[in-house]
Amino acid sequence: MERTLSIIKPDGVARGLIGEVVRRFENAGLKIVAMKMVHMSKKEAEGFYAVHRGRGFYDSLTDSMSSGPCVVMILEGPGAIAQTREMMGATNPKDAAPGTIRADYAFSIEQNIVHGSDAPETAAFEIGYFFNALEICG
Ligand code: GDP
Repeated sequence: MERTLSIIKPDGVARGLIGEVVRRFENAGLKIVAMKMVHMSKKEAEGFYAVHRGRGFYDSLTDSMSSGPCVVMILEGPGAIAQTREMMGATNPKDAAPGTIRADYAFSIEQNIVHGSDAPETAAFEIGYFFNALEICG
C-alpha cells in the first residue's frame, strides 16, 4: 500500500471541479484516507513548494496557490503515487495525454487543477505538511 498527497488547486476549486476530480480518483480505486479544505497563506505556499525556490515561476506559482482555498487529500492504494500522476497528466496541459485531468480541464501550466506527489519521499513530506496522525483515517 502506498500513500500520496493530492491537491485540487485554487483554480480547480474556483471552477467547481472538486467533485469531478474526487470522482475520478474514487472510480479508479484510490481510497481517500484524509481530506480537508485549506486556504494557504503566501508563506505556507512557499513552504510547500520550497523545492522550486529560485525558479522563475516560484513567485507567481505561490501567489496562485495562495489565491484561494485548495482541497488537500491523501490517496491510498498500491502504486498510488504513479497512478495519481498518470491520472493528472503532464505538468503542461498541452503535453498531457487525452483523458487526463489536466488535458481535460487545465488552461495553463500554472493553472493546472491538481497536484500529486512525485516520489515516496516527497509524499511523506507533503502529507506531513498538511495532516497530523489523528487526521488520517487509514
Ligand atoms: P507537477 O509535479 O506536475 O505539479 O510539476 P512540478 O512539481 O514540476 O511543478 C509544480 C507546479 O509548478 C506545476 O504544477 C505548475 O503549476 C508550476 N510550474 C511548473 N513548471 C512551470 C513553468 O515552467 N512555468 C510556470 N508558470 N509554472 C510552472
